[in-house]
Formats: sequence, structure tokens, C-alpha cells
Amino acid sequence: MNPIADFRSDTVTRPTPEMRQAMFDAEVGDDVLGEDPSVNRLEARAAEITGKEAAVFVPSGTMGNQIAIRAHTQPGEEIICEDHSHVVLYEMGMAASFSGCLFRTVTTDSGLLTWDDIAPRLRPASDHFRGTSLIEIENTANMAGGRVYPLAQIREIAENAHAANVQVHMDGARVFNAAAALGCEVSEVVAPVNSVMFCLSKGLGAPVGSILAGPSDFIAKARDIRKGLGGGMRQAGVIASAGLVALENSPAGLPEAHANAKFLAESLAAIDGIELDPPLVETNIIFFRVTKPGQTAKSLREHLKSQGILVSGSADRIRMLTHHDVTRADCERAISAVR
Ligand SMILES: *Cc1c(COP(=O)(O)O)cnc(C)c1O
Repeated sequence: MNPIADFRSDTVTRPTPEMRQAMFDAEVGDDVLGEDPSVNRLEARAAEITGKEAAVFVPSGTMGNQIAIRAHTQPGEEIICEDHSHVVLYEMGMAASFSGCLFRTVTTDSGLLTWDDIAPRLRPASDHFRGTSLIEIENTANMAGGRVYPLAQIREIAENAHAANVQVHMDGARVFNAAAALGCEVSEVVAPVNSVMFCLSKGLGAPVGSILAGPSDFIAKARDIRKGLGGGMRQAGVIASAGLVALENSPAGLPEAHANAKFLAESLAAIDGIELDPPLVETNIIFFRVTKPGQTAKSLREHLKSQGILVSGSADRIRMLTHHDVTRADCERAISAVR
């Protein structure tokens, strides 16, 4: 039998031996009382790396985004974001049900907004509507295949938003992938935005957890909302310690995951009946279509599964992610199985 190569997502990454050792050795306390030294170290380090005043450890990226939306808005206000954003499609409608906000979405091919996309949808409060209070940008743009915002594009959005008294939140679930692709620091990527959420549990390989970072008063409010959602985690140092190892060690491995994605993309694009544009693969996410007559994305997924290669996707697209638990040899095996 073939070993399993799991390309479904970078969330499937397992903690490294070093993370497990850190978890075993973790100093802990009651984090709801602010007394867990490992959580406090993780939050301080995350604030430093993002260049923000403060940070809070949350159980998931979804909770981090939803706390940010709640803390930045009032009910009835409008959030401008891309149509395929995680906050719109995959967060259980919580922006509406928990924060009472409306989305004004923009459809793009790249998943990346420009100020020109946003400006026509921006409106100040009036007698008839509450107006825009938040712009949300996703970096990297997951459903667009992990595309990366150019730094100047983030700056342009944030400068114009701030001039209009509108806040900007970055869903940076994979912002470390963005920084690796740009060859810059995460702090440079997020400098223009008010707040950022990133996941420790995806490409960075930690078992659990995400970070929300921003100004001190915003993070104080976020802690309050986190507690209300049941996100007060007591001796969370057991998982925060793995997050700290992820934060320090894992970014160095992202370029290899990106190189594997590029290799996969170029090799798959050369196969007859596969539609894929390799230059669009900038980080660790690949989408492609199956155009060979008589074959579908579903039939190919099933064939790959029978060969021990797991991929995800929809009715018309296959999605593959590279990460530290898939090797170049796994990529080669996937390519020949597709062929
Ligand atoms: C995974 C993901 C999230 C949410 O993270 P969870 O930890 O799964 O809740 C948010 N945004 C994007 C873009 C993601 O890919």
C-alpha cells in the first residue's frame, strides 16, 4: 500500500517533535487571570513580529476574524470585502448574526482588492444607512489560489480608508506565506492595516490556535469579546508553547513549500487535459480544472485517493496545498498519478 500524501490543506500539518517537547515542558497558569507565562510569551512575541502594540491568542482563525469584526463595528454597519473571502463564505454567517453587519462584496479574479474596487462601495453614514466602518482584505487570498497583495496595494487601501475614517482588518490566515513570497517581514505586510489575524495552525504547523494583533485598546476589547464567546482557555500554555515554536521556526520552511507548489503547478500544467496557469501560483495553494473529455474533478479526486493522494476542491476544480508534511517525492507521486 502507498503511504498517504495529504494535499487537502495546510491545516493537516502535525506538530513537530520540537513542538511536542515544548508542550510537554510548558510552564502554565490560568490564562483567564492573565497568569499563563507561555501564553503571555506567545502574545508578546506575536505583537513584536507583527509590529502591533498587542496581540491575543484565540482558538481559531474564525474566532479571531469574528472578534475583529465585532470590535471594529456597530450593528447595521457595512463591511467591504472580496466576494470569495473566508469571512463571507466560511464563517457561518457570523458577521451578520453576531455583529449585525452587512457585506458589500466585490468580485475579482485575483481575490485582491484595489482602492478603485472599494471606492464606489464606500459610503459615510446618513439618515438612510449606517455606512461603511470596515474593509477586510485576505492575504494570501485563499480561494483565488493563495495570491499575494503587493505592499503598495495594501498601503493605498489603508491610506484612503483611514482618510475616510474606515478601519482595515487583514485576514492573514496565511500572512507568513505572503511575507515569504515577497521576501519581506510580516511587520511590513501588516504595517498599514489596523488589525491582523494569522493562523499558527496552518503552514506554521502548530496543532491549535491563531493570533489577533492590533492597537492595545482594540486588543483589550478583543479579550472581552473572546471571553464572551467561550474563548477563555485557562492553562492554554500547553498549546501556546507549540505556537511559539511554530512562530520562531516554521516561517523558514515556507519557501520550500512554495517551491514544491511551483514544481507541482508547472508539472501539472504540462499534462494534457489539465487547465492551470503556473505564474498564478505564488505561494502554497494550487487550483486546477480537469478538461479531458470523460473526466471530471470528482473522478480524478477519486483516482488520486485510490493511490493514497488526498486533494480537495469543488465540482469543477481541484485544490492542492503544499506544506511541511508533504515532500518533493510526494509531489512527484501526485504528478504521475494525475498523468
Ligand atoms: C483557515 C482560514 C481561516 C479560519 O481559520 P480556522 O482556524 O480554520 O477557523 C480564516 N481565513 C482564511 C483565509 C483561512 O484560510
